[in-house]
Order: sequence, then C-alpha cells, then structure tokens
Amino acid sequence: MTTPPTAAISYLSSSIYYRHSGRFDAGRTLITLIAGTVVALVCGGIYAYIVRYMPIVGWITFIITGGTGFALGSAMGKLLQWARVRNTTLGLAITALAGLVLVWFSWVVYIYDLLQQIKIPPTLWDCVTSPQIMWQILLDINEHGLWSIKEAKPTGIFLWAIWLVEAALLIGIPLWYVRKKLDEKAFCEACQKWCIIRPLIDLKTLPFSRAEVSRRLESKDFSVIADAKEAPKGSLMYWTVSLQGCPSCDTTQTLCIDETVLTQNKKGQWEKTIKPVVKRLLLAPEDTVAMTMAVSQVRSAHTEAALAGDTKVKDDEAAALQALNESTATAAEDSSAA
Ligand SMILES: [Zn+2]
Repeated sequence: MTTPPTAAISYLSSSIYYRHSGRFDAGRTLITLIAGTVVALVCGGIYAYIVRYMPIVGWITFIITGGTGFALGSAMGKLLQWARVRNTTLGLAITALAGLVLVWFSWVVYIYDLLQQIKIPPTLWDCVTSPQIMWQILLDINEHGLWSIKEAKPTGIFLWAIWLVEAALLIGIPLWYVRKKLDEKAFCEACQKWCIIRPLIDLKTLPFSRAEVSRRLESKDFSVIADAKEAPKGSLMYWTVSLQGCPSCDTTQTLCIDETVLTQNKKGQWEKTIKPVVKRLLLAPEDTVAMTMAVSQVRSAHTEAALAGDTKVKDDEAAALQALNESTATAAEDSSAA
C-alpha cells in the first residue's frame, strides 16, 4: 500500500462524496492539446471529402456529421483521461477548441477542393493562410447554393441554418461525450490513477426512500445493505451496489448504487433505464470492510433462501414493480399539479 501525501488526505476528508480535484498533468495536457488539434485536422479533412463527393444529400449527411463528431469526442475523451485531467471545465475548453478546428478545416478543405477546377488552382496552404478569401467564397456559396435536396437548392438564411446545425453537431457531440467520459470514474490523487469499478451485488430495491438510503449510508450505517435481499436472476428492477476505487491503494474508495429498471415498450422491446441512487460516497478503509461484510451477509442469506426453495421471489418482484409504477404515477401527478 502506498502512503498518500497529506494534501490528498485533507482533500478526501473534506467531503462526503467524491469530487474531482480540478488538477491535471500539465505536460500531458499540452500534448493532448497538440494531438487533439491533429485529430481535428484529420477528421475535418476526411469529413470535407466525404461531404463533397457523397452522391446523395439528406439524413445520411447528418449521420456522417454525427459520426465525425463522435470520432473526435471519443479521441478527446481518451486523450484527456490519459492526460489525467480532473478539471471538467478545462477538458471541455480543449474539446471545444478541437471542435472549432475541425469545423474550420473542413471548410478550408472543401473550398480548396472546389477551387481545383479553376485555371490556376491554389494550394491547400494558400487556402489555410487566406481566411478573408475563404470567407468571401463561403458567402458566395451561401448566395448561390451548391447542392439540391428534392429539387430545392438551399441558399441564404436556410443554408446558414443548415450549416449552423452541422457545426453544432461537430462541436456539441464531442463536448457531450467528453463531459460524460470525465465524470465516469474517480481519480486517486495519491497514486495518480483512475479508479476501477467493481460490481458487488444486485439487490432488490429497498423498502426505504432514496433519501433515507442515502442518509443512512452517509452516516456509514451499512445495515441498510445488510438487511436487503439479493435480486433474483431475471429481475426487472434492482439496485447494483459497486465499489469504485483505486486499483493500487485503499486511500480512494467510493460506494455507488445504481437503480436499473427494465420495461417493455409498445413494440415489445425491453428497455433499460439506469439511475444513480448513491454516486461515489467516499469510504474509509474500515467502511469498505464493513460494506463488503454487509454484502456477503446478503449473499449467504440468499443462498440459504434458495436452498429452502423460496418460491415467493416472483410474487415479491411483481409487487415491487406494481409499487414502482404507482409511485411513478403519483410523482407525475404531483409534478403536473405543481
Ligand atoms: Zn491509490
């Protein structure tokens, strides 16, 4: 076990729930900034050629736009995690910059390729270094239009609106993805490592409100877990208890509980909704031991019940779902009344 620096301990003890420290690895962040720009240039170039030479225009264009945004987002997410960025604002700022580079370069490449038809075509470098000429050409394209959709040729404000949606997707999707990615895991300040997630058990939802469960767990009362029952296989509603902690030391250890509800939609397909009940409650080493013991208590009770041939399980499940539906309906009524 590594002895963590005092700064990390005081930071950890300052809150009940884990929060990012706001720190980052300066050297790696600089590399991420450069690498992110390169990825944006490559994505922008490829995107420009696909859009320019695609034989059809329509929804497929937006799917390609979304895919390009997703490609940039997933690269930025990986880079920022590698750079150990625990500062969401910084991560989003770098991503926004990469998104802007992608949009700008896709236009430069698009116009560069269009200009290859003229007598003395410019080089790509000419296009990159002549933003004013590029802007004039863009205004010209907007005035006359370039492509048609269902025999209509979008120009003017309508074309600006399409371009705005396109840019919003190319920048917005990476931002959405990176925000999600940076919030995915806790970070151990002592070991400079991202935490790993270890699912412990699936529980039947408890007969207490979410607030009650959170309150008891916050005061380190793990009997709330020990008194629960393990969810039988194929449950339609259950709470997954997991630990999210450092793979190398026991300084950073957190408890997460997520509620999963499976519902069938009108087409008969199953849909899974996952909502956090408890998100990264900080655990001291002795809390982790108490938690693990509470979980093994539930598991052994479940095994005993299974051996005794507990047939009540299915009825309980149906009753729990019924209760959930009623409480959701009541909540909906309450909110509409308010
Ligand atoms: Zn650690």
